[in-house]
Amino acid sequence: ATELAGRTALVTGGASGIGRATAELLAARGALVTVLDLDPSTVTGPLLARRADVTDDTEVRTAVAAAVEEMGGLDILVNNAGIGAQGTVEDNDDTQWQRVLDVNVLGIVRTSRAALPHLRARAGGAIVNTCSIAATAGLPQRALYSASKGAVLSLTLAMAADHVREGVRVNCVNPGTVDTPWVGRLLDAAPDPAAERAALQARQPTGRLVTAAEVAAAIAYLASPAAGATTGTALAVDGGMQGL
Ligand code: NAD
Repeated sequence: ATELAGRTALVTGGASGIGRATAELLAARGALVTVLDLDPSTVTGPLLARRADVTDDTEVRTAVAAAVEEMGGLDILVNNAGIGAQGTVEDNDDTQWQRVLDVNVLGIVRTSRAALPHLRARAGGAIVNTCSIAATAGLPQRALYSASKGAVLSLTLAMAADHVREGVRVNCVNPGTVDTPWVGRLLDAAPDPAAERAALQARQPTGRLVTAAEVAAAIAYLASPAAGATTGTALAVDGGMQGL
């Protein structure tokens, strides 16, 4: 439980779902953790929290600087904030494309830019990005979302190469369908949410959705000293849906 004692972490999108489970797990392992989120009002307990929209560079820089100051440094950055989109290339207009790429891709660029000088200053800095099986699965009705996560995967590999000699590792997790408020919202929008949930579970090779705690465990591993020789990799947490 003390594996991350003395370490500090930032988790974007840490107020809900995968981000929340990750922030709580890192804290349970001894890290001092700050959540950055559009709405951090529900974040409690040992977690610190700050409001920041990852699409606003000034807000990101201000929040990262304040969090680093408060925590006394930064060892771990979890870039998890993300939004979804459904449809083919004919269904989403340029504004929707720009919005999703702004959050899912440029959001990672902005927080990483603000955090890298601090990560570099520590021995064993780590970045973990929440990607998706959508990056490589060729899912129907997910053109925009898949393109955004494909960019996250490529960015992870490129950043790993750029920063490995500076002592900063960069990896990502590729979750399948995870039982979070996000998926809950999608199911609630269906005509029969219970039937839709059953159908979704039946499509999983394991017969159940992935849990946020399972994704958090993978992120925590990649962020930890135990993964000290691992950089530029994507860890599938998808219940056998796709693998990588
Ligand atoms: P969620 O909606 O439960 O949580 C997302 C969090 O991100 C929310 O707290 C939200 O306020 C925050 N957020 C959204 N836009 C933001 C912005 N502009 N600035 C700051 N914070 C912002 O979603 P989740 O299911 O936990 O998803 C988290 C990540 O996991 C996303 O990157 C998503 O693409 C990825 N993912 C989810 C699944 C899934 O099935 N749930 C599968 C694969 C990948």
